[in-house]
Amino acid sequence: MHRIVIVGGGAGGLELATRLGNRLGRSKRAHVTLVDRSATHVWKPLLHEVAVGSLDTNVHQISYVAHSHWNHFTFVLGELTALDRRTKQLNVGPVLETEGMEVLPGRSIEYDTLVLALGSRTHFFDVPGAEEHAIALDSLEQAERLRKRLLQACQKKTAHSSTGENPVVDVAIIGAGATGVELAAELRRMESTFKDFGILAKSPQASLRINLVEAGSRILPALPRRVSDSTQAVLESMGVSVLVSKAVTEVRATNIELADAQTIPSDVSIWAAGIKAPCVLGSLDGIAVNRINQVKVSRSLQSETDENVFAFGDCASCAWTAENMVPPRAQAAHQQAMFLFKALCARLDGLPLGLFQYRDHGSLVSLGSSTAVGSLAGLSRGGKIFVKGYVAEFIYAALYRKHLMAVSGVRRAAFAIAAHKLSRMLSPRVKLH
Ligand SMILES: Cc1cc2nc3c(=O)[nH]c(=O)nc-3n(C[C@H](O)[C@H](O)[C@H](O)COP(=O)(O)OP(=O)(O)OC[C@H]3O[C@@H](n4cnc5c(N)ncnc54)[C@H](O)[C@@H]3O)c2cc1C
Repeated sequence: MHRIVIVGGGAGGLELATRLGNRLGRSKRAHVTLVDRSATHVWKPLLHEVAVGSLDTNVHQISYVAHSHWNHFTFVLGELTALDRRTKQLNVGPVLETEGMEVLPGRSIEYDTLVLALGSRTHFFDVPGAEEHAIALDSLEQAERLRKRLLQACQKKTAHSSTGENPVVDVAIIGAGATGVELAAELRRMESTFKDFGILAKSPQASLRINLVEAGSRILPALPRRVSDSTQAVLESMGVSVLVSKAVTEVRATNIELADAQTIPSDVSIWAAGIKAPCVLGSLDGIAVNRINQVKVSRSLQSETDENVFAFGDCASCAWTAENMVPPRAQAAHQQAMFLFKALCARLDGLPLGLFQYRDHGSLVSLGSSTAVGSLAGLSRGGKIFVKGYVAEFIYAALYRKHLMAVSGVRRAAFAIAAHKLSRMLSPRVKLH
């Protein structure tokens, strides 16, 4: 049997493994294997909600072991460490438990077709102190760490303030792309619940002083100007200070320094300013990468240096038009997973793979409960429709539902959404421990 190995079970990789498992694995035409360094999948665009405690991760996690069993592929837990293209083998490192004891040894896996879908990591741009003092939002563990840091900062300030005083926690978010903006808005929801439950003093004044710092001349630089302006107005009405054209030069334990020598106090610093692909990709045997470690691929999503190796999603650099590359977005990973599903089935039949064509359906940014802002591809060619409010929020939520349906099927997705709604009714809107 032809062996297809997919490394990375994120927004794109899990969808591809599920589709290939159900088509080729079930009929025993190919053996499909998914490798991931985590045991469970959480859709990455939900991480900012995990970070403020407004999302129950138990409801939204998918166990790779169970999912692979139901969808006719094999799951291997471990991190990709090396590749031997001559023998067509990849190495997966050992899995260690918390105390450092080895649970699983390092293994090697043979492939005929390899698909790299490792996603991206935060790019700290070598800013002094950034990696040490700021928290990034790349994984469930980091999102949980940020949630605990925010909770503890609020508890500490409240414990050290005298009666009647409004304790203020300073939060600096560095980078005003979609992640930074969505996080700033979600923090207000967290603050309001903390006040309701007495973690913060019940004061009409804000207890979280949020600074959103952006080096570029406007927030959401990848989106149309109208969306940036509208979003900035909403954020400012929520009491978020938006600082544009301010590059951060150093992050310290209790403050951040800007290029103009201004210092901003910060009890919790969050880095959301850029991405790069995992370093391991830059060290893989003969695989060409760009300056941020993304695998250079052709329009058929094959590595420029090896036609048996494919790459897609955030970890791949693929031309979309003569000037533009496919952007690092969940919608791009989804479209590429759909393309690769058809292309890999065609490859087994000896048919041409075709060329990937990215369709930009627009972008939406969630601004907390019941509102979102964005632009969607219009009905006229190339036109964009500006949307905001409940309509935008509804379409934003639909993106996650679409992902759930693609990987879990309509019935399981419907149960998961219902379970989420029930858990919201039965517990505080924000996790308090
Ligand atoms: C807070 C936040 C909000 C976002 N909001 C949006 C949004 O609203 N809309 C949108 O379109 N996009 C959004 N994005 C971007 C979107 O999440 C990514 O573009 C998308 O997840 C990329 O999918 P992917 O499959 O390439 O990688 P990922 O979904 O990141 O998955 C990569 C997988 O690879 C695994 N992995 C990594 N390294 C290794 C290794 N060495 N060995 C084995 N496994 C490994 C990881 O565990 C992970 O499961 C957001 C991102 C963040 C962080």
